[in-house]
Amino acid sequence: MPTNHVFVLNADKNFLSMVHPARARKLLSQNKASVFRTFPFVIILKKQIQIPHLKQYILKIDPGAVWTGFAIQCGFEIVFQMELKHRSNAIKSDLHLRSGFRRGRRSRNLRYRKKRFDRKKQLGWLAPSLRHRVQTTETWIKRFIKYCPISAIEIEQVRFDTQKIIQPEISGVEYQQGVLWGYEIREYLLDKWGRKCAYCDVENVPLEIEHIQAKSSCGSDRVSNLTLACHDCNQQKGNLDVADFLNQKYKFDLIAAKNRIDKILKQRTSPLSSAAAVNSTRFAIVDAAKRHNSNVLCWTGGRTKMNRCQQGFPKSHSIDAACIGESGSQIKFLTTQPLIVEAKGHGTRQSRRTNDKGFPAITVKTDKKTGEKTTSTVAPKRSYKHIQAGDIIKFELKKDSKTCSDKKKAIESTVKVKAGWYTARVKTPTPKGFEVKIGEHRVTVSSMVGVKFIYRNDGFSYSFL
Ligand SMILES: [Zn+2]
Repeated sequence: MPTNHVFVLNADKNFLSMVHPARARKLLSQNKASVFRTFPFVIILKKQIQIPHLKQYILKIDPGAVWTGFAIQCGFEIVFQMELKHRSNAIKSDLHLRSGFRRGRRSRNLRYRKKRFDRKKQLGWLAPSLRHRVQTTETWIKRFIKYCPISAIEIEQVRFDTQKIIQPEISGVEYQQGVLWGYEIREYLLDKWGRKCAYCDVENVPLEIEHIQAKSSCGSDRVSNLTLACHDCNQQKGNLDVADFLNQKYKFDLIAAKNRIDKILKQRTSPLSSAAAVNSTRFAIVDAAKRHNSNVLCWTGGRTKMNRCQQGFPKSHSIDAACIGESGSQIKFLTTQPLIVEAKGHGTRQSRRTNDKGFPAITVKTDKKTGEKTTSTVAPKRSYKHIQAGDIIKFELKKDSKTCSDKKKAIESTVKVKAGWYTARVKTPTPKGFEVKIGEHRVTVSSMVGVKFIYRNDGFSYSFL
C-alpha cells in the first residue's frame, strides 16, 4: 500500500521538499538523517545541504463536524493524506457535568441569589466544542507549515454557493449550464428539502431532481420549481400537476394530501434560511488559515463532489479534501494510507474526585497487615516514572500474557498476547505501573526495563487505516 511521503528538514531545521518513503528509509539507514518527529513522520538531515528551489505544495482542508480531512498536493499529485477526528461531543458532555456541579454548589447554602442575566457573549464567540474544532485544525495547519513549503491553502468553505444559485446570471452562462451547476444545485436542494423525498419522505435512497411543475407543462428550471423525489415518486408523478398527483397518491387520507400540497407549495418559494447555509465554524477556520498563509482559497462542496464523482474515487474525508477546488479535477494519488489522528484531550485537572452529587468521593483503603483504615479523596496519580497516559512506547513483553480488561472474556477466550516487541499507546498509569492496549487486550507493564519512548503525548492518538 503506498504510504504518505515524508517531511524532510535541513540541518538548520528549515523545511525541504518532501521525499518518497523509500528515499527516507535509505537516508536513515545510511545514517545521513535521523528521525525528528514520528507523527507526522519528519526526518532531519545531519549535514546542511543547498537546494536552489523547493517544490511548492498546496494544503487542502475539508472541515467537517466530526472528521476533518487534510491532503497535501504537489503539482497534480497527492503526497500526504490525514484525517482528524474532533472530540466536540466529549467537550459538550464534560461542560454539562461541570455546570451541574457548579449549579449545585452555588445554590446549596443560599436562600436566594440574584440571577446574572446580563452576561453577554462577545462578537465572534464560538461554543467551546466548536472552538475546539477550529483550534485543532489550526494546530495542524501550523504543523504542516513548519515542515513543508506550503504556498497555498485551499478550504471547502461552504456546501454550495447560495448567491450563484439564486442569481445564476452573476457568474455567466457557462456556470448556469455546466456540470458544476448540477452538483451545486443538488447540494442546495438536499439541504432545503431535508435529504428526503418531498412526496413520500423516504430517506437514504438516491434522490432525483424533480420539477414541481413539469417541464412539459411549461415548468421552469428555476430553483424555486425544483425539489427532490425518489425514483418511484418521480416516475409516478410524470407530468401530472403536483396537487393531482398527491391527491391520487394519498386518496385514502385527503387531509394528509392537502397538508403535503400546502407544505410543498409554501417551501418551494421560500429560500433556504441563511443560518443553514452559513456555518460559523467554517468561516472561523478560514480566518485561522489566513493568519498563517496569505494565499487562502475557498471552494464549495458541490465542486468537491463533482471532482470526486467524475474521477470515480470512493468517499472518504481525506479524498474529499484532495478533490477540493479547481486543482482537484485531475489528481493522482501517490498515497492511499491516510494518517488517522484522533483528538483525545489532555485528561482532567481534577485533583479531588467527586461523587455524582458533587461531594468529595472518599476511597477507603485497608492495610492488610494492621487492618487500619485510611480514607482519601485524592485522585490517583496519573503517571508512572515519567510515563503519562497517551504516550506511545515500544516495549518488550517477556512472557505470553493472558490478562484482558473484560474478565468474562478472558475466561472464554484462550487468545493471549504473545511475547515480543510491541508499540502501543499508554492507557492508565498508576504508581505501580501502566496498562497498554494491544488489539482487544489490556496488558500491564510494571517495569521500565526495555521500555522505549516513541512519542510524548500531545493530546492526539495516531494510527493508520
Ligand atoms: Zn418518494
